[in-house]
Amino acid sequence: MLDCIFCKIANKETKSTIVYEDDMVIAIRDLDPKAPEHVLIIPKKHIASINEFKAEDKDLAAHILVDVVPKIANDLKIAESGYRVVINTGEDGGQTVHHLHVHILGGRSMTWPPG
Ligand code: 5GP
Ligand code: ZN
Repeated sequence: MLDCIFCKIANKETKSTIVYEDDMVIAIRDLDPKAPEHVLIIPKKHIASINEFKAEDKDLAAHILVDVVPKIANDLKIAESGYRVVINTGEDGGQTVHHLHVHILGGRSMTWPPG
């Protein structure tokens, strides 16, 4: 999608620090990390938010949760200590980039409830 920063990152038109990539997703270091480890998993296909998920996206959603999140947590060595997986959605959810992305945050103890 034109003028979408995460489409540009997925297409390599904008630089990022890539930690994982396959045909469905790219995972990058967050530009402004909120924890010692902060990675964003970004589908290569432009999907604005969870609200725009279609039935055809089930394989993508499962791939992210079943394959990509655990792999990245292992690679970052936070699988055992623990980590948080976040998908901010819409205004009240605090979503600022309107291309679906999954945050993985770790390397410190998280608080609950979130702000
Ligand atoms: P949201 O608030 O939409 O859930 O999260 C957007 C995240 O994307 C934020 O944590 C922000 O720091 C990150 N971000 C925004 N623009 C860029 C960018 O150009 N490159 C990278 N690596 N991260 C970005
Ligand atoms: Zn996009």
